[in-house]
Amino acid sequence: MDRRTLILAALAIFLSSVFMSAQTNPSSNPSVPPVTTQSTPAFDVNTAVEAYFAKMPPERRAQSNAYFEGGYWLILWDFVYTVLVMQFLLRSRWSALMRDLAERLTRFRPLQTAIYWIQFIIVVSVLTFPLSLYEGYFREHKYGLLNQTFGPWMRDQLVGLGVGIVLGAILMVPLFGLVRKLGKNWWLWGSIVMIAFAAFVALIAPVYIAPLFNKYTTLKDATIKDPILSMARANGIPANDVYEFDASRQSNRVSANVSGFAGTQRISLNDNLLKRCTLPEIETTMGHEMGHYVLNHAYKGLVMFGVVIVVGFAFLNWGINYGLAHWGEQWGVRGITDVAVLPWAVIVFSFYMLLVTPVTNSISRTMEYEADLYGLNAAGQPDGEANVDMLLGEYRKLDPGPIEEFVFYDHPSGRTRITAAMRWKAEHPQSTNEDEVKRSLFEPK
Ligand SMILES: [Zn+2]
Repeated sequence: MDRRTLILAALAIFLSSVFMSAQTNPSSNPSVPPVTTQSTPAFDVNTAVEAYFAKMPPERRAQSNAYFEGGYWLILWDFVYTVLVMQFLLRSRWSALMRDLAERLTRFRPLQTAIYWIQFIIVVSVLTFPLSLYEGYFREHKYGLLNQTFGPWMRDQLVGLGVGIVLGAILMVPLFGLVRKLGKNWWLWGSIVMIAFAAFVALIAPVYIAPLFNKYTTLKDATIKDPILSMARANGIPANDVYEFDASRQSNRVSANVSGFAGTQRISLNDNLLKRCTLPEIETTMGHEMGHYVLNHAYKGLVMFGVVIVVGFAFLNWGINYGLAHWGEQWGVRGITDVAVLPWAVIVFSFYMLLVTPVTNSISRTMEYEADLYGLNAAGQPDGEANVDMLLGEYRKLDPGPIEEFVFYDHPSGRTRITAAMRWKAEHPQSTNEDEVKRSLFEPK
């Protein structure tokens, strides 16, 4: 679902770092049949990769490429649209009016901040709704990636707005409190508040946020439950940290994720994965998610995104002061302690996040690649892995150029992942699974 409507460039960072997601793949299968010595031709990694690529019909491939490449442009259009909306709020002095209303309602400053925030996020959600509707609803339907009719989709948007109201207020009140207390040194402490907030959201997300959108249950199907929980035990993960959820409510996408922080950390496999994939494919996916869990990616991610946030807040502080010096009066914004400056702060921070897109994507992508290798080693199912990677190719372009992958990919491309799987397979010929090699993945339409 598209949470971008919730704006707050800030929120976006941690939400993404928090749900260190998912679409991934691992594989595994402990019981490997003995190798029958064969005199078949030597295994060639590139040939094997191409054989997997050939499973996707060309028109399907073209559709996936168009969907994913369109996403590159959406990054830009989202930014441009956000700038236009924020500029409108400033120049029309609507932002100043919302502040005035908050000040009339209460003299208690933290509450003024919260009241401003509630007006802000509702107005922004309404003004950005056309773009959200196109991106999250019509475009997803056009590519056959959304199962929801308008009613349930809209319900999810409204729930998302509710979450944004509450979480945003929890962030904004202390941030503006710091600005008032610390003056020009607010940004360093502010970035620490932001990082703590990210950890807080990560901590509560699986328990209080994710269930607002999907139903989470313990694994039900015994035929997959037993091998999955066995893998979990083997890797030191408690069985009650493994869940399934009804992602089919929203789409047919195959996915899984690790979410949570500290005591709430858990692995969740989606029902599309459980329904559409074979056991080796589910195992390799599980192995990947175990990689995130065991390698402590939630914590490492927070540290790395933390650096991005500290630098971003230094830039934000500079940018806010620059904007206020030039246009503050025109906007009716009194200074940096005035909450009415928020639209400008969103512009500055969104610009920064746009610039560091390759950095944040690379932080994520390199951890995803680590999880892939963990999954290959844990599950020992390179062919299952390659099939899952092909299924992910329904919504992620399989074969980008190297710069394209560096800039836009928060997960490795299908080509990178399948190449890693086949390279692993070349050194573990006994792991070959002919059923997986032959399995046809895409029904002709
Ligand atoms: Zn992952």
